[in-house]
Amino acid sequence: MTTPLKQLVDEARQVVVFTGAGISTESGIPDFRSPGGLWTQNKPIYFQDFMASEETRIEAWRRKFNMDDAFAKARPNAGHMAIARLVQQGKVSAVITQNIDNLHQESGIPADKVIELHGNTTYAKCLDCGSRHELEFVRAAFGEVNAPPPCRACGGILKTATISFGQSMPQGEMMRAEAETLGCDLFIAVGSSLVVYPAAGFPIIAKQNGSGLVIINREPTEMDEIADLVVNDEAGATLAALVP
Ligand code: NAD
Ligand code: ZN
Repeated sequence: MTTPLKQLVDEARQVVVFTGAGISTESGIPDFRSPGGLWTQNKPIYFQDFMASEETRIEAWRRKFNMDDAFAKARPNAGHMAIARLVQQGKVSAVITQNIDNLHQESGIPADKVIELHGNTTYAKCLDCGSRHELEFVRAAFGEVNAPPPCRACGGILKTATISFGQSMPQGEMMRAEAETLGCDLFIAVGSSLVVYPAAGFPIIAKQNGSGLVIINREPTEMDEIADLVVNDEAGATLAALVP
């Protein structure tokens, strides 16, 4: 069956997919803004507070390890897999994601086609020298002294490689995301409430540049009125129908 969504995708020359937490809920990772989402349980830790206090850093890492215990088993779902197929077919040129869960990469999309606007929580980075540290190392050291260890290279502060509220956006990723957005003729936003800026600016840039805009989301969003098509349904089944 040719749905309006399938028709738009078939007719498009180059598609960019933009994802939020909603694409990963079917993998068992809760989003922020659905009822019962993470937002309602834990207030986010702002970057400035993380930098200012060792106590806050301990709390941030404690939360992180608790989350990993709950979500380490998460695997890509039908939605991630469908997007991976579209990338493989050359239809989708890049996936711009707000997610930090690494599931797009795990679905088989080459890392250079996944643009992570908010970083990645599956490893840690030194805020001073930028060197990468694996979580097992941080966790083992944390277990011994109940505090995160310093960077092994320079003694600096270690944080998951994510972008917190109050932290500056990654320049290179922002530029690549903008270039991809300007290069597409169909932009599909999936599973995002489209309220977190600057990330939520990309659908607007696409639309202003003459691209088509599709929004796939369980609930209405504030951008529905500028979209060419809104699908208020589950991301997994909706995307899977594109690649039978
Ligand atoms: P959000 O929580 O603000 O919005 C998620 C949206 O997805 C909601 O509007 C919800 O109705 C919809 N949704 C949930 N499950 C769905 C499904 N199965 N099918 C279709 N729609 C579904 O998320 P956001 O816009 O990504 O912004 C939240 C911020 O939190 C982002 O910056 C993101 O980085 C971060 N975050 C990431 C993860 C993750 O990596 N998996 C999880 C939680 C939060
Ligand atoms: Zn360092």
